[in-house]
Amino acid sequence: MNKILLTADKSLLNDFHLKQNISQFFYGSGDLLPSWVFKLLVNNPKVENGIVKFAPYSLRKIEAKLIDLGYNVSTISHTQVPKLIQNAKVLGIHSVNPLGMAFNTYLRNFLNEKSEKPKYFFNELIQNKYLKKAKKNGLKIIIGGQGAWQFKHNPDLLAEYGIDCVIIGESELVIDDIITKALNDKKLPTIVNVSNKQIPSLDDISEIKYPSISGCIEIGRGCPRHCKFCEVTKTNLRWYPKSKIEKELIINKISGLKYGILHAEDVFLYGQNSVIPNKKKILDLIGLTQKYYQNIHFTHISVASSLAIPDLIENVMEQILQNQDYLVVEIGIETGSVDLLKKNMESKVKPFNPEQWCNMIYEALGKMHDNMIIPFCSIIFGLPNETISDKEKTLELIKNLKEFRCVLFPVNYIPLGNQKEQRRFSDNMEELDDIEKEICFRCLDHDIKWINNSKKYFYKKSKYRFLIDLLSKIWILQYKRNVSNYKKQLKNK
Ligand code: SF4
Repeated sequence: MNKILLTADKSLLNDFHLKQNISQFFYGSGDLLPSWVFKLLVNNPKVENGIVKFAPYSLRKIEAKLIDLGYNVSTISHTQVPKLIQNAKVLGIHSVNPLGMAFNTYLRNFLNEKSEKPKYFFNELIQNKYLKKAKKNGLKIIIGGQGAWQFKHNPDLLAEYGIDCVIIGESELVIDDIITKALNDKKLPTIVNVSNKQIPSLDDISEIKYPSISGCIEIGRGCPRHCKFCEVTKTNLRWYPKSKIEKELIINKISGLKYGILHAEDVFLYGQNSVIPNKKKILDLIGLTQKYYQNIHFTHISVASSLAIPDLIENVMEQILQNQDYLVVEIGIETGSVDLLKKNMESKVKPFNPEQWCNMIYEALGKMHDNMIIPFCSIIFGLPNETISDKEKTLELIKNLKEFRCVLFPVNYIPLGNQKEQRRFSDNMEELDDIEKEICFRCLDHDIKWINNSKKYFYKKSKYRFLIDLLSKIWILQYKRNVSNYKKQLKNK
Protein backbone atom coordinates (compact mmCIF):
# COMPACT_ATOMS: atom_id res chain seq x y z
CA MET A 1 0.00 0.00 0.00
CA ASN A 2 2.87 2.43 0.69
CA LYS A 3 3.33 2.84 -2.99
CA ILE A 4 4.45 6.12 -4.55
CA LEU A 5 3.42 6.80 -8.12
CA LEU A 6 4.82 9.52 -10.35
CA THR A 7 3.26 10.82 -13.53
CA ALA A 8 2.73 13.84 -15.77
CA ASP A 9 0.03 14.89 -18.17
CA LYS A 10 -0.26 13.40 -21.64
CA SER A 11 1.54 16.26 -23.40
CA LEU A 12 4.61 15.98 -21.13
CA LEU A 13 4.84 12.18 -21.22
CA ASN A 14 4.57 12.30 -24.97
CA ASP A 15 7.61 11.03 -26.89
CA PHE A 16 6.31 12.20 -30.30
CA HIS A 17 6.20 8.60 -31.48
CA LEU A 18 9.98 8.57 -30.96
CA LYS A 19 10.43 10.89 -33.91
CA GLN A 20 13.05 13.40 -32.93
CA ASN A 21 12.46 15.35 -36.14
CA ILE A 22 8.89 15.95 -35.05
CA SER A 23 9.82 17.02 -31.53
CA GLN A 24 12.25 19.60 -32.92
CA PHE A 25 9.44 21.13 -34.91
CA PHE A 26 7.57 21.40 -31.61
CA TYR A 27 10.43 23.10 -29.89
CA GLY A 28 9.04 24.27 -26.57
CA SER A 29 5.48 23.16 -26.16
CA GLY A 30 4.29 23.11 -29.73
CA ASP A 31 2.87 26.59 -29.31
CA LEU A 32 3.28 27.45 -32.95
CA LEU A 33 1.15 24.56 -34.14
CA PRO A 34 -2.63 24.58 -34.38
CA SER A 35 -4.24 22.51 -31.61
CA TRP A 36 -5.56 19.92 -34.03
CA VAL A 37 -2.03 19.15 -35.29
CA PHE A 38 -0.68 19.05 -31.76
CA LYS A 39 -3.37 16.62 -30.63
CA LEU A 40 -2.71 14.47 -33.68
CA LEU A 41 0.99 14.20 -32.90
CA VAL A 42 0.75 13.73 -29.13
CA ASN A 43 0.73 10.00 -28.53
CA ASN A 44 0.06 7.80 -25.52
CA PRO A 45 3.28 6.88 -23.73
CA LYS A 46 4.73 3.42 -24.18
CA VAL A 47 4.38 1.21 -21.12
CA GLU A 48 6.72 -1.75 -20.52
CA ASN A 49 6.56 -4.06 -17.52
CA GLY A 50 4.02 -1.81 -15.82
CA ILE A 51 6.04 1.41 -16.02
CA VAL A 52 6.26 4.13 -18.60
CA LYS A 53 9.22 3.57 -20.93
CA PHE A 54 10.24 7.20 -21.50
CA ALA A 55 9.51 10.02 -19.06
CA PRO A 56 10.50 13.70 -18.78
CA TYR A 57 14.06 14.06 -17.50
CA SER A 58 13.06 16.00 -14.35
CA LEU A 59 10.59 13.29 -13.42
CA ARG A 60 13.27 10.64 -13.93
CA LYS A 61 15.56 12.64 -11.63
CA ILE A 62 13.10 12.63 -8.74
CA GLU A 63 12.20 8.99 -9.41
CA ALA A 64 15.92 8.15 -9.14
CA LYS A 65 16.26 10.10 -5.89
CA LEU A 66 13.30 8.27 -4.34
CA ILE A 67 14.70 4.90 -5.46
CA ASP A 68 18.08 5.79 -3.91
CA LEU A 69 16.30 6.77 -0.69
CA GLY A 70 14.74 3.29 -0.62
CA TYR A 71 11.14 4.10 -1.52
CA ASN A 72 8.78 1.89 -3.53
CA VAL A 73 8.17 4.14 -6.55
CA SER A 74 6.97 3.74 -10.14
CA THR A 75 6.48 6.24 -12.94
CA ILE A 76 3.25 5.56 -14.77
CA SER A 77 1.28 6.86 -17.71
CA HIS A 78 -2.05 8.68 -17.33
CA THR A 79 -3.58 5.62 -19.04
CA GLN A 80 -2.55 3.49 -16.02
CA VAL A 81 -4.09 5.82 -13.45
CA PRO A 82 -7.51 4.07 -13.32
CA LYS A 83 -5.88 0.69 -12.65
CA LEU A 84 -3.05 1.65 -10.31
CA ILE A 85 -4.09 4.71 -8.35
CA GLN A 86 -6.27 2.89 -5.81
CA ASN A 87 -3.17 1.09 -4.48
CA ALA A 88 -1.11 4.25 -4.13
CA LYS A 89 -0.55 6.38 -1.09
CA VAL A 90 1.24 9.25 -2.83
CA LEU A 91 0.99 10.62 -6.37
CA GLY A 92 3.74 12.98 -7.52
CA ILE A 93 2.84 15.03 -10.60
CA HIS A 94 5.50 16.72 -12.73
CA SER A 95 4.37 20.07 -14.17
CA VAL A 96 5.83 22.53 -16.68
CA ASN A 97 3.07 25.04 -17.42
CA PRO A 98 0.00 23.71 -15.57
CA LEU A 99 -1.92 27.00 -15.46
CA GLY A 100 -0.63 28.46 -18.75
CA MET A 101 1.33 31.23 -16.98
CA ALA A 102 4.84 30.51 -18.27
CA PHE A 103 6.49 32.31 -21.20
CA ASN A 104 4.02 32.18 -24.04
CA THR A 105 4.76 33.35 -27.52
CA TYR A 106 2.52 36.01 -29.02
CA LEU A 107 2.83 34.26 -32.38
CA ARG A 108 0.18 31.85 -31.17
CA ASN A 109 -2.29 34.75 -31.37
CA PHE A 110 -2.03 34.50 -35.16
CA LEU A 111 -3.50 31.02 -34.90
CA ASN A 112 -6.42 32.53 -32.97
CA GLU A 113 -5.50 30.31 -30.04
CA LYS A 114 -5.09 31.19 -26.39
CA SER A 115 -2.65 29.57 -23.98
CA GLU A 116 -5.03 26.70 -23.36
CA LYS A 117 -2.96 23.76 -24.52
CA PRO A 118 -0.80 23.17 -21.41
CA LYS A 119 -3.77 23.89 -19.12
CA TYR A 120 -6.00 21.55 -21.06
CA PHE A 121 -3.70 18.55 -20.62
CA PHE A 122 -2.92 19.28 -16.96
CA ASN A 123 -6.64 19.66 -16.22
CA GLU A 124 -7.40 16.41 -17.97
CA LEU A 125 -5.04 14.64 -15.56
CA ILE A 126 -5.81 16.42 -12.30
CA GLN A 127 -9.60 16.26 -12.79
CA ASN A 128 -9.50 12.53 -13.50
CA LYS A 129 -12.40 10.85 -11.65
CA TYR A 130 -10.15 8.03 -10.41
CA LEU A 131 -7.89 10.56 -8.70
CA LYS A 132 -10.91 12.11 -6.99
CA LYS A 133 -11.98 8.70 -5.75
CA ALA A 134 -8.47 7.87 -4.51
CA LYS A 135 -8.30 11.23 -2.72
CA LYS A 136 -11.32 10.18 -0.66
CA ASN A 137 -9.33 7.10 0.37
CA GLY A 138 -6.37 9.18 1.58
CA LEU A 139 -4.20 9.67 -1.54
CA LYS A 140 -1.75 12.58 -1.18
CA ILE A 141 -1.02 14.60 -4.31
CA ILE A 142 2.30 16.45 -4.58
CA ILE A 143 3.15 18.79 -7.47
CA GLY A 144 6.72 19.52 -8.58
CA GLY A 145 8.58 20.49 -11.75
CA GLN A 146 9.35 23.78 -13.47
CA GLY A 147 5.70 24.89 -13.41
CA ALA A 148 5.01 24.33 -9.69
CA TRP A 149 5.50 28.06 -8.92
CA GLN A 150 2.28 28.86 -10.77
CA PHE A 151 0.23 27.49 -7.87
CA LYS A 152 1.81 30.01 -5.53
CA HIS A 153 -0.05 32.68 -7.49
CA ASN A 154 -3.27 30.64 -7.49
CA PRO A 155 -3.47 29.04 -4.02
CA ASP A 156 -7.26 28.66 -4.27
CA LEU A 157 -6.78 26.03 -6.95
CA LEU A 158 -4.96 23.70 -4.56
CA ALA A 159 -8.12 22.72 -2.68
CA GLU A 160 -10.15 22.65 -5.90
CA TYR A 161 -7.68 20.22 -7.49
CA GLY A 162 -7.09 18.21 -4.31
CA ILE A 163 -3.37 19.07 -4.23
CA ASP A 164 -1.76 18.54 -0.82
CA CYS A 165 1.70 19.98 -1.40
CA VAL A 166 3.59 21.98 -4.03
CA ILE A 167 7.41 21.90 -4.13
CA ILE A 168 9.03 24.91 -5.81
CA GLY A 169 12.72 24.44 -6.68
CA GLU A 170 15.22 21.59 -6.60
CA SER A 171 13.61 19.01 -4.35
CA GLU A 172 16.41 16.51 -3.64
CA LEU A 173 16.98 17.66 -0.05
CA VAL A 174 13.34 18.18 0.95
CA ILE A 175 11.61 15.23 -0.70
CA ASP A 176 12.46 12.62 1.95
CA ASP A 177 10.76 14.57 4.73
CA ILE A 178 7.67 15.31 2.64
CA ILE A 179 7.23 11.73 1.46
CA THR A 180 7.71 10.38 4.99
CA LYS A 181 4.97 12.71 6.25
CA ALA A 182 2.68 11.79 3.35
CA LEU A 183 3.10 8.05 3.92
CA ASN A 184 2.36 8.52 7.62
CA ASP A 185 -0.76 10.62 7.02
CA LYS A 186 0.83 13.68 8.59
CA LYS A 187 -0.20 17.14 7.42
CA LEU A 188 1.94 18.39 4.53
CA PRO A 189 3.12 21.98 4.06
CA THR A 190 0.99 23.44 1.26
CA ILE A 191 3.84 25.26 -0.48
CA VAL A 192 7.50 24.35 -0.03
CA ASN A 193 9.91 26.97 -1.35
CA VAL A 194 13.31 25.32 -1.53
CA SER A 195 15.75 27.77 0.06
CA ASN A 196 19.36 28.44 -0.90
CA LYS A 197 20.49 26.30 2.03
CA GLN A 198 18.50 23.36 0.63
CA ILE A 199 20.11 23.37 -2.83
CA PRO A 200 21.55 19.87 -3.44
CA SER A 201 25.23 19.26 -3.99
CA LEU A 202 26.42 17.05 -6.87
CA ASP A 203 26.43 14.03 -4.55
CA ASP A 204 22.81 14.64 -3.57
CA ILE A 205 21.65 14.49 -7.21
CA SER A 206 20.86 10.92 -8.29
CA GLU A 207 21.50 9.59 -11.78
CA ILE A 208 18.42 8.52 -13.72
CA LYS A 209 17.59 4.81 -13.59
CA TYR A 210 15.24 4.72 -16.61
CA PRO A 211 15.32 6.51 -19.99
CA SER A 212 14.31 10.10 -20.55
CA ILE A 213 12.16 11.53 -23.33
CA SER A 214 14.20 12.73 -26.32
CA GLY A 215 17.31 11.32 -24.62
CA CYS A 216 17.55 14.52 -22.58
CA ILE A 217 20.51 14.58 -20.17
CA GLU A 218 21.32 17.41 -17.79
CA ILE A 219 25.01 18.33 -17.67
CA GLY A 220 24.79 20.90 -14.89
CA ARG A 221 22.53 23.25 -12.93
CA GLY A 222 22.63 26.98 -12.31
CA CYS A 223 23.91 29.95 -14.31
CA PRO A 224 26.67 32.48 -13.59
CA ARG A 225 24.98 35.41 -15.35
CA HIS A 226 22.50 36.51 -12.66
CA CYS A 227 19.81 38.19 -14.77
CA LYS A 228 17.53 40.01 -12.36
CA PHE A 229 14.33 38.37 -13.57
CA CYS A 230 15.59 34.76 -13.58
CA GLU A 231 15.11 32.22 -10.82
CA VAL A 232 17.98 30.02 -12.04
CA THR A 233 20.32 32.72 -10.86
CA LYS A 234 19.56 31.96 -7.23
CA THR A 235 20.98 28.45 -7.31
CA ASN A 236 24.65 27.53 -7.20
CA LEU A 237 26.39 26.64 -10.42
CA ARG A 238 27.17 22.91 -10.50
CA TRP A 239 28.58 20.96 -13.45
CA TYR A 240 28.28 17.18 -13.49
CA PRO A 241 31.51 15.25 -14.05
CA LYS A 242 31.65 13.25 -17.26
CA SER A 243 31.41 9.98 -15.30
CA LYS A 244 27.99 11.04 -13.95
CA ILE A 245 26.81 12.12 -17.41
CA GLU A 246 28.03 8.88 -18.96
CA LYS A 247 25.94 6.75 -16.58
CA GLU A 248 22.80 8.49 -17.86
CA LEU A 249 23.88 8.27 -21.51
CA ILE A 250 24.22 4.51 -21.03
CA ILE A 251 20.68 4.25 -19.59
CA ASN A 252 19.25 6.00 -22.65
CA LYS A 253 21.41 4.13 -25.12
CA ILE A 254 20.38 0.72 -23.70
CA SER A 255 16.72 1.73 -24.10
CA GLY A 256 17.30 2.03 -27.86
CA LEU A 257 17.54 5.82 -28.13
CA LYS A 258 19.92 6.96 -30.83
CA TYR A 259 19.70 10.69 -30.21
CA GLY A 260 19.52 13.09 -27.34
CA ILE A 261 19.61 16.60 -25.99
CA LEU A 262 22.25 18.02 -23.64
CA HIS A 263 20.64 20.35 -21.14
CA ALA A 264 22.19 23.26 -19.25
CA GLU A 265 21.50 26.99 -19.09
CA ASP A 266 24.62 27.44 -21.24
CA VAL A 267 26.15 24.26 -22.62
CA PHE A 268 29.21 26.22 -23.84
CA LEU A 269 30.17 26.97 -20.23
CA TYR A 270 30.38 23.28 -19.33
CA GLY A 271 32.83 22.70 -16.50
CA GLN A 272 33.57 26.40 -15.93
CA ASN A 273 32.95 28.63 -12.90
CA SER A 274 33.30 31.71 -15.05
CA VAL A 275 31.77 33.05 -18.27
CA ILE A 276 34.77 31.95 -20.38
CA PRO A 277 34.23 28.57 -22.10
CA ASN A 278 36.88 25.87 -22.08
CA LYS A 279 36.99 24.42 -25.59
CA LYS A 280 38.65 21.17 -24.60
CA LYS A 281 36.01 20.44 -21.97
CA ILE A 282 33.18 21.09 -24.48
CA LEU A 283 34.75 19.01 -27.24
CA ASP A 284 35.42 16.17 -24.79
CA LEU A 285 31.80 16.31 -23.63
CA ILE A 286 30.54 16.21 -27.22
CA GLY A 287 32.90 13.31 -27.98
CA LEU A 288 31.55 11.41 -24.99
CA THR A 289 27.95 12.07 -26.06
CA GLN A 290 28.66 10.98 -29.64
CA LYS A 291 29.86 7.63 -28.29
CA TYR A 292 26.26 6.95 -27.32
CA TYR A 293 24.07 9.19 -29.52
CA GLN A 294 24.22 9.47 -33.32
CA ASN A 295 22.53 12.83 -33.20
CA ILE A 296 22.61 15.54 -30.52
CA HIS A 297 21.13 18.95 -29.80
CA PHE A 298 21.57 21.46 -26.95
CA THR A 299 18.88 23.17 -24.94
CA HIS A 300 20.68 26.48 -24.38
CA ILE A 301 23.83 28.33 -25.32
CA SER A 302 24.46 32.08 -25.11
CA VAL A 303 25.53 34.71 -27.59
CA ALA A 304 28.33 35.84 -25.27
CA SER A 305 29.87 32.44 -24.57
CA SER A 306 29.74 31.48 -28.24
CA LEU A 307 32.03 34.45 -29.04
CA ALA A 308 34.16 34.49 -25.88
CA ILE A 309 36.98 32.35 -27.26
CA PRO A 310 38.17 32.15 -30.87
CA ASP A 311 36.60 29.62 -33.25
CA LEU A 312 34.41 27.95 -30.63
CA ILE A 313 31.37 27.63 -32.91
CA GLU A 314 33.52 26.48 -35.83
CA ASN A 315 35.36 23.80 -33.81
CA VAL A 316 32.25 22.52 -32.04
CA MET A 317 30.33 22.26 -35.31
CA GLU A 318 33.22 20.59 -37.11
CA GLN A 319 32.87 17.76 -34.58
CA ILE A 320 29.06 17.70 -34.49
CA LEU A 321 28.58 17.80 -38.27
CA GLN A 322 30.56 14.56 -38.60
CA ASN A 323 27.35 12.78 -37.59
CA GLN A 324 24.47 15.12 -38.42
CA ASP A 325 23.42 17.99 -40.68
CA TYR A 326 22.56 20.73 -38.17
CA LEU A 327 22.34 21.57 -34.47
CA VAL A 328 19.26 23.05 -32.77
CA VAL A 329 19.83 25.32 -29.75
CA GLU A 330 17.91 27.95 -27.83
CA ILE A 331 19.36 31.38 -27.10
CA GLY A 332 18.03 34.43 -25.28
CA ILE A 333 18.27 37.64 -27.30
CA GLU A 334 15.53 39.36 -25.25
CA THR A 335 16.17 42.97 -26.33
CA GLY A 336 18.01 45.24 -28.74
CA SER A 337 18.31 47.97 -26.11
CA VAL A 338 21.62 48.44 -24.29
CA ASP A 339 19.86 50.52 -21.59
CA LEU A 340 17.33 47.79 -20.87
CA LEU A 341 20.07 45.19 -20.90
CA LYS A 342 22.02 47.16 -18.31
CA LYS A 343 18.94 47.46 -16.09
CA ASN A 344 17.97 43.78 -16.11
CA MET A 345 20.73 41.50 -17.37
CA GLU A 346 24.07 43.23 -17.59
CA SER A 347 26.02 39.96 -17.16
CA LYS A 348 24.37 38.45 -20.21
CA VAL A 349 27.10 40.06 -22.33
CA LYS A 350 30.12 39.13 -20.18
CA PRO A 351 33.05 39.00 -20.94
CA PHE A 352 32.03 41.78 -23.38
CA ASN A 353 30.50 45.22 -22.71
CA PRO A 354 26.77 45.96 -22.94
CA GLU A 355 27.44 48.50 -25.72
CA GLN A 356 28.61 45.62 -27.94
CA TRP A 357 25.33 43.66 -27.53
CA CYS A 358 23.71 44.13 -30.97
CA ASN A 359 26.96 43.57 -32.84
CA MET A 360 27.55 40.45 -30.75
CA ILE A 361 24.15 39.12 -31.83
CA TYR A 362 24.89 39.77 -35.51
CA GLU A 363 28.30 38.13 -35.25
CA ALA A 364 27.06 35.09 -33.29
CA LEU A 365 24.00 34.51 -35.53
CA GLY A 366 26.20 34.92 -38.61
CA LYS A 367 28.59 32.24 -37.37
CA MET A 368 25.69 29.98 -36.42
CA HIS A 369 24.17 30.44 -39.88
CA ASP A 370 27.46 29.56 -41.58
CA ASN A 371 28.01 26.51 -39.35
CA MET A 372 24.50 25.01 -39.48
CA ILE A 373 23.33 25.92 -36.00
CA ILE A 374 19.60 26.71 -36.01
CA PRO A 375 18.89 28.88 -32.96
CA PHE A 376 15.43 29.45 -31.49
CA CYS A 377 15.70 32.98 -30.08
CA SER A 378 13.47 34.58 -27.45
CA ILE A 379 12.57 38.30 -27.55
CA ILE A 380 10.91 39.50 -24.33
CA PHE A 381 8.21 42.20 -24.09
CA GLY A 382 7.46 43.95 -20.82
CA LEU A 383 10.78 43.67 -18.99
CA PRO A 384 10.83 45.97 -15.94
CA ASN A 385 11.41 49.66 -16.84
CA GLU A 386 11.10 49.08 -20.60
CA THR A 387 10.50 52.34 -22.55
CA ILE A 388 9.24 53.10 -26.07
CA SER A 389 12.82 53.81 -27.08
CA ASP A 390 13.91 50.35 -25.83
CA LYS A 391 11.20 48.73 -27.95
CA GLU A 392 12.22 50.74 -31.03
CA LYS A 393 15.75 49.42 -30.61
CA THR A 394 14.46 45.86 -30.43
CA LEU A 395 12.46 46.45 -33.62
CA GLU A 396 15.60 47.77 -35.30
CA LEU A 397 17.50 44.69 -34.20
CA ILE A 398 14.83 42.35 -35.58
CA LYS A 399 14.92 44.14 -38.95
CA ASN A 400 18.67 43.50 -39.08
CA LEU A 401 18.30 39.74 -38.47
CA LYS A 402 16.65 39.07 -41.84
CA GLU A 403 19.51 37.14 -43.37
CA PHE A 404 20.17 34.85 -40.42
CA ARG A 405 18.69 31.35 -40.26
CA CYS A 406 16.95 31.41 -36.88
CA VAL A 407 13.48 31.27 -35.36
CA LEU A 408 12.37 34.33 -33.39
CA PHE A 409 9.90 34.04 -30.49
CA PRO A 410 8.43 37.21 -29.03
CA VAL A 411 7.30 36.24 -25.53
CA ASN A 412 5.65 37.97 -22.59
CA TYR A 413 7.77 38.83 -19.56
CA ILE A 414 7.26 36.43 -16.70
CA PRO A 415 9.14 36.86 -13.46
CA LEU A 416 9.86 33.19 -12.94
CA GLY A 417 9.35 31.29 -9.72
CA ASN A 418 9.41 33.38 -6.58
CA GLN A 419 9.94 36.82 -8.12
CA LYS A 420 7.78 39.44 -6.46
CA GLU A 421 8.55 42.32 -8.80
CA GLN A 422 6.33 43.79 -11.48
CA ARG A 423 4.65 41.02 -13.39
CA ARG A 424 2.99 40.75 -16.73
CA PHE A 425 1.24 37.48 -17.29
CA SER A 426 -0.94 38.40 -20.25
CA ASP A 427 -0.06 36.95 -23.62
CA ASN A 428 -2.95 38.64 -25.38
CA MET A 429 -1.79 40.53 -28.45
CA GLU A 430 -4.58 43.06 -28.06
CA GLU A 431 -2.71 44.44 -25.06
CA LEU A 432 0.43 45.16 -27.07
CA ASP A 433 1.26 48.62 -28.37
CA ASP A 434 1.95 49.35 -32.05
CA ILE A 435 5.72 48.77 -31.86
CA GLU A 436 5.26 45.45 -30.08
CA LYS A 437 2.70 44.36 -32.68
CA GLU A 438 5.11 45.35 -35.43
CA ILE A 439 7.83 43.23 -33.77
CA CYS A 440 5.42 40.26 -33.77
CA PHE A 441 4.62 40.72 -37.48
CA ARG A 442 8.31 40.94 -38.34
CA CYS A 443 9.16 37.85 -36.26
CA LEU A 444 6.44 35.83 -37.92
CA ASP A 445 7.52 36.87 -41.44
CA HIS A 446 11.10 35.98 -40.50
CA ASP A 447 10.09 32.60 -39.07
CA ILE A 448 7.96 31.59 -42.04
CA LYS A 449 10.84 32.36 -44.39
CA TRP A 450 13.41 30.44 -42.38
CA ILE A 451 11.21 27.50 -41.36
CA ASN A 452 10.39 27.05 -45.05
CA ASN A 453 14.09 27.17 -45.78
CA SER A 454 15.11 24.83 -42.95
CA LYS A 455 12.47 22.15 -43.11
CA LYS A 456 14.48 20.31 -45.77
CA TYR A 457 17.11 19.65 -43.08
CA PHE A 458 14.54 18.60 -40.49
CA TYR A 459 12.71 16.03 -42.55
CA LYS A 460 14.85 14.96 -45.42
CA LYS A 461 15.35 11.45 -43.99
CA SER A 462 11.81 11.01 -42.68
CA LYS A 463 9.44 8.61 -44.41
CA TYR A 464 6.65 11.01 -43.37
CA ARG A 465 8.23 13.97 -45.15
CA PHE A 466 5.40 14.38 -47.68
CA LEU A 467 2.80 14.44 -44.92
CA ILE A 468 4.90 16.84 -42.83
CA ASP A 469 5.43 19.06 -45.85
CA LEU A 470 1.68 19.18 -46.46
CA LEU A 471 0.94 19.96 -42.80
CA SER A 472 3.54 22.71 -42.71
CA LYS A 473 2.03 24.28 -45.86
CA ILE A 474 -1.43 24.30 -44.26
CA TRP A 475 0.06 25.71 -41.06
CA ILE A 476 1.86 28.52 -42.88
CA LEU A 477 -1.21 29.36 -44.99
CA GLN A 478 -3.28 29.58 -41.82
CA TYR A 479 -0.73 31.99 -40.31
CA LYS A 480 -0.59 34.15 -43.44
CA ARG A 481 -4.36 34.38 -43.75
CA ASN A 482 -4.77 35.29 -40.08
CA VAL A 483 -2.02 37.92 -40.17
CA SER A 484 -3.61 39.54 -43.19
CA ASN A 485 -7.03 39.57 -41.43
CA TYR A 486 -5.43 40.92 -38.30
CA LYS A 487 -3.73 43.76 -40.18
CA LYS A 488 -7.03 44.64 -41.90
CA GLN A 489 -8.77 44.83 -38.52
CA LEU A 490 -6.02 47.13 -37.20
CA LYS A 491 -6.41 49.47 -40.19
CA ASN A 492 -10.19 49.64 -39.71
CA LYS A 493 -9.90 50.60 -36.04
S1 SF4 B 1 21.42 33.89 -18.82
FE1 SF4 B 1 19.44 32.80 -18.87
S2 SF4 B 1 19.56 31.23 -17.28
FE2 SF4 B 1 21.24 32.67 -16.92
S3 SF4 B 1 20.43 34.08 -15.39
FE3 SF4 B 1 20.06 34.99 -17.44
S4 SF4 B 1 17.98 34.32 -18.07
FE4 SF4 B 1 18.68 33.02 -16.32
